[in-house]
Amino acid sequence: MSAARRTIVAGNWKMNLDRAKARELTAAVAARAAEAGATELVLCPPAPYLDCVGATLAAAAVALGGQNMLDKPSGAFTGEVAPPMLVDLGCRYVILGHSERRTLFGETDAVVNAKTKAALAAGLTPIVCVGETLEEREAGRTADVVTTQIRGSLAGLPATDVEQVVVAYEPVWAIGTGKVATPQQAQEVHALIRGLLAGIASPAVADKVRIQYGGSVKPDNAADLAAQPDIDGALVGGASLKADDFLGIAKAFG
Ligand code: PEP
Repeated sequence: MSAARRTIVAGNWKMNLDRAKARELTAAVAARAAEAGATELVLCPPAPYLDCVGATLAAAAVALGGQNMLDKPSGAFTGEVAPPMLVDLGCRYVILGHSERRTLFGETDAVVNAKTKAALAAGLTPIVCVGETLEEREAGRTADVVTTQIRGSLAGLPATDVEQVVVAYEPVWAIGTGKVATPQQAQEVHALIRGLLAGIASPAVADKVRIQYGGSVKPDNAADLAAQPDIDGALVGGASLKADDFLGIAKAFG
């Protein structure tokens, strides 16, 4: 991490918990938010619980985020969530292009790009996820894959918008598997991403963009990741479902 960028740790609850457990976890994180030090905290519950989580957070120093959205402001899109709805519920962030969205729901870079633009237009900060599969890494294609995803997902964004985006590097082989990338493997890709952002926008903008690592981050591996110069936080799945683990990770980045 760099002193110039505020670290950010976001919890992606995915499709887990029920309302009572969501409220309980939120209350625990809110009460202990100070443990995160200077690190910004974000909770991304399932859409039906955004309202309840937002109300439970009340004035706590924890931001709210959606896990997905459509790139349209309203209309006949059964089952979808519009960017202004997330804003209305108090969201400041939205995760876009998570590997589960890409692989299970067919989201391409073009889709992620349209959603990124719609999120920014609505006043949301997109957390844009990229990352290679195990097969791609083993074939030596990590840099190519990540380059294509970054260029495609951020295509056409003016530098002022690129500056607002949070990028999450999430190697697919590390998500929910317990296999975390080594700090060196992660740093290598984070540095690549920052270099790409410098080319897309400018070195000054790239220097401001926060790049999270995601993939089996736990309190016991977070400090080594946090020590890397281009790792500015974490996108946390499984470990975000326990307040102790989530805050332990945030503390390591604080
Ligand atoms: C994620 O899904 O964004 C993620 C990083 O999951 P986990 O921490 O469980 O690997």
